[in-house]
Amino acid sequence: VKSQGRNNYQFYHSAINSQASELLSLENSLHYALEREEFIVYYQPQINISTGEIIKMEALLRWQHPKLGLIYPEKFIPLAEETGLIVTIGEWVLKTACAQNKAWQDTLGLPSLSIAVNLSARQFQQSNLVKLVTQILLETQLNPKYLELEITESIAMHNAEFTKAILNEINNMGVYISIDDFGTGYCSFNYLKKFPIHALKIDKSFVRDLTKNSNDAAIITAIIALAHGLNLAVVGEGVETEEQRNLLRILECELMQGYFFSRPVLAEDATKLLRKSKSR
Ligand code: C2E
Ligand code: CA
Ligand code: CA
Ligand code: CA
Repeated sequence: VKSQGRNNYQFYHSAINSQASELLSLENSLHYALEREEFIVYYQPQINISTGEIIKMEALLRWQHPKLGLIYPEKFIPLAEETGLIVTIGEWVLKTACAQNKAWQDTLGLPSLSIAVNLSARQFQQSNLVKLVTQILLETQLNPKYLELEITESIAMHNAEFTKAILNEINNMGVYISIDDFGTGYCSFNYLKKFPIHALKIDKSFVRDLTKNSNDAAIITAIIALAHGLNLAVVGEGVETEEQRNLLRILECELMQGYFFSRPVLAEDATKLLRKSKSR
């Protein structure tokens, strides 16, 4: 029994060690990922359900690791946040996404197509965020009203006065702001009133069991009523089935995003989706 306990301990210990060294080497290669051009922006369409048109694309980052293959943000964004690398990575995402949206607008004749970009907490604490956004919009020639920045409730709630000031500056530029993963954080209704917010994105955890769980349906109904009452757009995220789409439509959720419409795809495949969306 004793020796088995020891083996377990050793096993446990080496598992932790290998996890730690995996993280270390991941962090190491994350430092070079940008200059080695290993990041790729995927795009997922947002649909206006009453017209069926794609009105917006959300930029979602992936990392094409030379040895480990395609890595999803859940695996490296926390690391990028901790190390501060998210600031330069985020800059690159913003620039790439804005340039891509401008190209779509011009070459496909879709002048009112928008792009949504996720902002992390760390980016939000940078004193030059407003300047950076201004500069990228200028460089890419994208009209500010076709850019939407997605922030989470925790960003909004952290240092609320500071956040409000920054959001006001961003809003004054004409850029839209939406609250991502709405309903999962600590958002206070007070801030919804005070912050210049354009849209609420209902977290996909509520959408997942929407058709099976009456609690989720009640929460979504309440979020939609709240959004409409405050004159905000509301987006249903993580829509995977026709049933979910139909129920969300009945609940008057006008914008939707999810695998049912399309997974996040490479720019060239997103271009095809946009062409199809336009010709319908
Ligand atoms: P998010 O902003 O909430 O993005 C939605 C996530 O749900 C994406 O995961 C997307 O691929 C996934 N998704 C979309 N439709 C469905 C669906 O129908 N069912 C399910 N189960 N999932 C769906 P992804 O791309 O892995 O990104 C995860 C998170 O990483 C994002 O969550 C966002 O918080 C973060 N992230 C992604 N790109 C960036 C970035 O450029 N910067 C920052 N700071 N964060 C990013
Ligand atoms: Ca998002
Ligand atoms: Ca979300
Ligand atoms: Ca999220």
